[in-house]
This record gives sequence, structure tokens and C-alpha cells, in this order.
Amino acid sequence: MTCDTLIVGAGSAGNILAARLTEDASREVMLLEAGPDYPTGDSLPEDIRLGFGTSSGIIAKSHDWGFDGRATPIRVDMPVPRGRVVGGSSAVNAQIFLRGIPEDFAAWAAMGNDRWRFEQVLPYYCKLENDHDFGRAEYHGEDGPIGVRRYPKEEWGPDQLAWADACRQAGFPECPDANLPQSTGIGPFPLNNIDGVRQSTAVTYLAQARNRPNLRILSNCTTLRVLLERGRAVGVEAARDGKVEQYYADEIVLCAGGIGTPQILMLSGIGPAQHLREIGVEVSHDLPGVGENMRDHPTVNLRWALQFEPTDRFHWHQACLRYTADESDLTNDMIIYIAAVPEHADAIGAHLFVRPTLNLAVGQGKLRLRSAEAGDQPLLDYRYFEEPFDRARQREGIRLCTELVEEHAAFRSLCGDVLDGPGEAMDDDAALDSWILANADTGHHTSSTCKMGPASDRLAVADQSGRVHGIDGLRVVDASLMPDSVRANINATVMMMAEKIAAEMAGKAEVS
Ligand SMILES: Cc1cc2nc3c(=O)[nH]c(=O)nc-3n(C[C@H](O)[C@H](O)[C@H](O)COP(=O)(O)OP(=O)(O)OC[C@H]3O[C@@H](n4cnc5c(N)ncnc54)[C@H](O)[C@@H]3O)c2cc1C
Repeated sequence: MTCDTLIVGAGSAGNILAARLTEDASREVMLLEAGPDYPTGDSLPEDIRLGFGTSSGIIAKSHDWGFDGRATPIRVDMPVPRGRVVGGSSAVNAQIFLRGIPEDFAAWAAMGNDRWRFEQVLPYYCKLENDHDFGRAEYHGEDGPIGVRRYPKEEWGPDQLAWADACRQAGFPECPDANLPQSTGIGPFPLNNIDGVRQSTAVTYLAQARNRPNLRILSNCTTLRVLLERGRAVGVEAARDGKVEQYYADEIVLCAGGIGTPQILMLSGIGPAQHLREIGVEVSHDLPGVGENMRDHPTVNLRWALQFEPTDRFHWHQACLRYTADESDLTNDMIIYIAAVPEHADAIGAHLFVRPTLNLAVGQGKLRLRSAEAGDQPLLDYRYFEEPFDRARQREGIRLCTELVEEHAAFRSLCGDVLDGPGEAMDDDAALDSWILANADTGHHTSSTCKMGPASDRLAVADQSGRVHGIDGLRVVDASLMPDSVRANINATVMMMAEKIAAEMAGKAEVS
């Protein structure tokens, strides 16, 4: 089978590329996805359709790759969920819809990506959204496929109101729109969830495009490797219904995510040569950066018993606190999530759950293959909190959360004993560090494993348009392409990147 553009992975990025590229009726596009497809609203299972926080919003095993990662040397078996379904992780995620801030993109530009400054990406953030609260405004859009709204305060739970109150009293500024470039402080989370329905790229972008005659969607179809001929990608080999088949195209675009894309590249012989030889993969092209530079938003979970039974709401997180850590010059480098979890949603029963999270860690991990078998999980070594600066900011975050919850009057009638926390380790930096390393958890934002950058950077895997260095006809467009994470949950940024590169590929934007 052959086509003009073959996209691997129908997730946040892949579905946007498929939808935008097929606007040109003369371009034949194939979209290959390892997971199942639910083509109509009625056929969507509840875990995919409903928001995070409802009991049925927890990811079904059949829609999850179920990776395991090594968080730190003493937390070696951390579950790392990833969507395996048409919609990808956008179909299983928590729908927090925050944008990166101007400083993030200044950093990307400083790494040699001068077409990714904030003013160059802002039009694509606006293009993809339909902001129900702010509509078309200087920094917003209302014509995009992704619906976004915030809970009005009248609908906030008592835990969220108490949190906002505690934050304001502690001096954090009010933040009505966390997607404004200079915003910080406490305010409502923007959520891509409308009337309880998760706005994945499957029910938005792909739904609008899936009946086009020039788009072919192959679900339950797992790409094993890219086929190369004389330095050019010509197709992929994929397994479907127990058979291995070849699919050919003029251009291959890998959109398999921060874990899937570097895995496919390495299985195709594109990656760090020495590692590939060690595990028995024939080297086609030595690209040392594949699997390096792995980023996430590391976190820990603190829990208190609850003295009230929270109601089921479509989203647990309503109030968002972003702030800059003491002695940090990285604006908004911390974010805190807080939620009253209902009895039925967790084995430990109803509790208050608080996650102080590094919104921009300086530490980085790496991804490697376990073997030359496509079915084997890759090794995910996150190396959270290895850097002293990351540990210092996390210690401060834990102490801040504890102070706000335990000392603020509004929480007194809501919360009881600590269920999970550092206890006596709180007052001793070294002991608290040990607790952090033992309890480190993923922020679910794995990225940057195939970073973009100039060919002169030996760890850059692709150029600013996602074209893989040294291989013709092959692009990467997904979370793996980010040169560093952004100070925000990354879904909106991945979508923005797909919109921007799709516009370039369609000849509707500048490419150099
Ligand atoms: C539990 C969870 C909660 C999250 N919450 C939020 C949140 O609230 N806000 C936010 O901004 N971000 C959140 N994220 C992160 C965000 O959803 C992802 O970073 C984003 O969706 C990544 O987009 P992507 O296109 O890079 O990859 P994905 O959307 O993961 O798409 C990759 C696709 O490729 C497919 N694939 C992989 N390998 C192959 C293969 N070999 N063959 C064929 N297909 C393949 C996958 O099945 C998947 O469909 C969350 C993620 C998770 C898992």
C-alpha cells in the first residue's frame, strides 16, 4: 500500500497532522495506530469519553501501554501510563490545558530553534482552541476544534475553595486566566473538557476529517520499524491482525509520542550506534541524541484524611497554583495540584491529595531499548531529583503545601490526619531528600527524547520542522521533538507544535 504521507500514531499530534494535511484533497494520507478506534461518539468507552476524576475516567488496561519507569535509584518500578487508542494520550489524560510561557520558547530559540519564539507559536495556540470563557481575544481563539473552559467558582468543591483562600492569604496573586503570557498565582485551571466530555484529538480534529476519501485510518496496527533505502525512509513495517505488512509513502511522520517515537527510531537502526550494537540492532544511522534528554515534570504525592465525602465531579482539579520557587530565576517553575478524592476512586478511601510538582526540572533522564524486539518495553530511566536545585525546589514545595493545608483555618473542618507525607523527615533537608527519592512520581509529561535543534548540536535528532537529521523523508512531530519541557502540562504545546508543522508541510507557513 502506498500514499503521500504516512503518519505513525493517532495521538495528540498525529490526529492534528492527519486532519490538517487532508484538507488538501490531492494529498493521500495513511494514519497507523497501535490501539483501537472508536469512530463515533456512541461507541466511545466511558474511560475515554469522560473527564478525569469520575470513577469511570480511570484508564482501562486495554487503552494503556502500561510502561514501567525507574524514577530514582530507590523507586525503580513506577507505573507510566500512555494512551494506546485512537486519540493517544489526549484520550486518557487529565485535560489540564495550560500553555508554555514566553520564557520557555526563548529557551527553545536559544538552543538554535529560532522559529519557535513565543510570538511565532502563539497563533497556533489560538488556532487550535475554542475558549468558551474568553472567546476571540488578544491571546485566545474561538474557532479551533478543542473546546476549553474553566469551572466558575460557584461550582468549586470546598477543598478547592479552601485551597484558593489559603493561597491568597499566603500572598499569591489572583490569576483568572492562566493562559495569559505573564500570568502566575492562584486561579481556575483551563480544562479541555466540555460538558464532562474529554476533548481528545480523536473526537475533535479526527472526527471532522475521518470521512475524507484521502484519509485511511488503520487501527490495531503496530509499527515495528521504518524501512530505509539508501538514507531515505520509504515506508514502515507494521503488525496487524497477526500479519506483518509493509506500507510505503513519500514521507513518513513519526507521531508515536515521547516513548514510542525514539523506540521506533532505535528499532530501525537510527540512534546511538554503540547502544544499538550492544543490543543487536543493525545501525543504519548513528544519531546519539535519540532517547537522550528525557524530560518530565517530577512530583510527589501528599495525602490527608478527609472529614467530608466529596461529590463526584467531572474533574478533581479546579484551582491551579503556579509560582516561582525562592532563589529561582525560572518563572512559574512550580505548580501544585490539589483534589478531594472520593471514597470509591481509590483503595485508601476518601482523601485530600496534593501534588507539588516541578514545572521545569533541570535534571534529565534517558530512554534505551531493552532488546531488539519491538514488543519489549523500553527502559525508562527518569533520574528525577538527581540535581540539587530540583531537590531544593521540591523540598520547598512540600513544606509550602503542608503549611497551607495544616495551618489554614478553612482546612480545619475538612482534613484530618496525614496519610502520606514525610512526617519527621520534614524538618531535615537530607531526610526529606531521601523521602522525595523514595516517593518520586511521574507528572505524566514524558518529552524531549528526540529533540529538535541544528545539526551542529550532536544531540539534536531533528531540525525545526521535525525532519530527522541525516535521513530523507522522515519527520518526528510529537512530544519527543520538544528541546526541553515547558512550564505547563504539555498537551496543548504538543498540539500547537503539530498545528505549526502541519501548516509548514501544507505550504501555509514559513519553512527555512
Ligand atoms: C494519565 C495522563 C494524564 C495526563 N494529563 C495531562 C493533562 O492534564 N494535561 C496535559 O497537557 N497533558 C497531560 N498528559 C500528557 C499529554 O496527554 C501527552 O503529553 C500528549 O498527549 C502527548 O502527545 P503525543 O502526540 O506526543 O503522544 P500520544 O498522544 O501519546 O500519541 C502517540 C500515539 O502513538 C501510538 N503509538 C505508539 N507507538 C506506536 C507504534 N509502534 N505503532 C503504532 N502506533 C503507536 C500510541 O498508541 C498513541 O496513540 C497526560 C498524560 C497521561 C498519560
